[in-house]
Amino acid sequence: MPVKPLSPEKISIFAQLPDAFDRAVGEWGWPAFRARQIRQWVFEKFVTNPEQMSNLSRADRAMLAERADFGSAEVVRRQISDDGTIKLLLRWPDGHEAETVMIPDGPRRTACVSSQVGCPVGCRFCASGIGGVKGNLTCAQIVEQVYALNLQLREAGERITNIVFMGMGEPLANYAAVMEAVRILHDPGALNIGARRITISTVGVPQRIRDLAHEQLPMNLAISLHAPTESLRKQLIPWAEHFSLADILSAARYYFERTGREVTLEYILLAGVNDQVEQARQLAKLCKTMRANVNLIRYNEVEGLEYKRPKSSDVVAFQEVLRDNQVNAHVRKSRGRDIDAACGQLRRKEGQGRSGSNEP
Ligand code: SF4
Repeated sequence: MPVKPLSPEKISIFAQLPDAFDRAVGEWGWPAFRARQIRQWVFEKFVTNPEQMSNLSRADRAMLAERADFGSAEVVRRQISDDGTIKLLLRWPDGHEAETVMIPDGPRRTACVSSQVGCPVGCRFCASGIGGVKGNLTCAQIVEQVYALNLQLREAGERITNIVFMGMGEPLANYAAVMEAVRILHDPGALNIGARRITISTVGVPQRIRDLAHEQLPMNLAISLHAPTESLRKQLIPWAEHFSLADILSAARYYFERTGREVTLEYILLAGVNDQVEQARQLAKLCKTMRANVNLIRYNEVEGLEYKRPKSSDVVAFQEVLRDNQVNAHVRKSRGRDIDAACGQLRRKEGQGRSGSNEP
């Protein structure tokens, strides 16, 4: 696919913290209140066409259209589940594609966003890892995913309330863009989502987990464990070869000590692979070495892959072992099973690649 980057003179509203946008607009000779007006159109009124920004003069509207970009993703596919889950496949002019999902749960509207095109981690049970990573999404492309979901919710008078980086890609392998996006998503002058409602989910990059602990934002950290032992983890997650479980857990302890925020361990239950009582005992033992809670996720089967969804009785037994050992363990609700729930399947079906996370 031909690569058509954004014109270098254009700035993207989705890649600018309000301060930076104020400065850019100031360099055009405009007053700061003009930048605020533009942000209000975009983030409060969902207007991204400068022509419709009626409190700007005709000349200013024309200059704005020339110098700023207000999102360029095309919604290539959209699926809506019976349970209200909305899944979008977005495509940008540079050829990048990303899946983004809105998961409703009571008053919450959670965006599950992608950080890369494909994924370098290669989990054996995931559609995203099959084709490897094709590239990093830019900060603007990450923020635009949330904006695109807000557009879907606009008619109902709703907005995204929570964000999880659990779509395609390893967010800590695209650290700079992800962190800049988090700042913009969090900023009251932009998307205004509380940092406590933002979760970074990683397979575990110890140094980056330590870096995260030094960011001045109280985000949540989730570590995709998926196995209680090093050997099983290496079988399931090829990337686990690079970083030992001990190093990852040591970084997680550091994160807790520095931020006071309990870490979540994500554990996808795969029938007959990692869902047995003995493995629950091993996991409980490991949890005792740190302050962590466990999120159990029933596997969503992926066409063409051998892994199976676990039996409900095995899930209950697994959770009971954890709870009997005083480990706080929840089973995550399955959402959007009728619409290719596991990330990456939409993109796969679209025929542009084999990619996406199993985690929503
Ligand atoms: S489960 Fe997550 S980390 Fe693993 S390959 Fe899929 S997207 Fe990557």
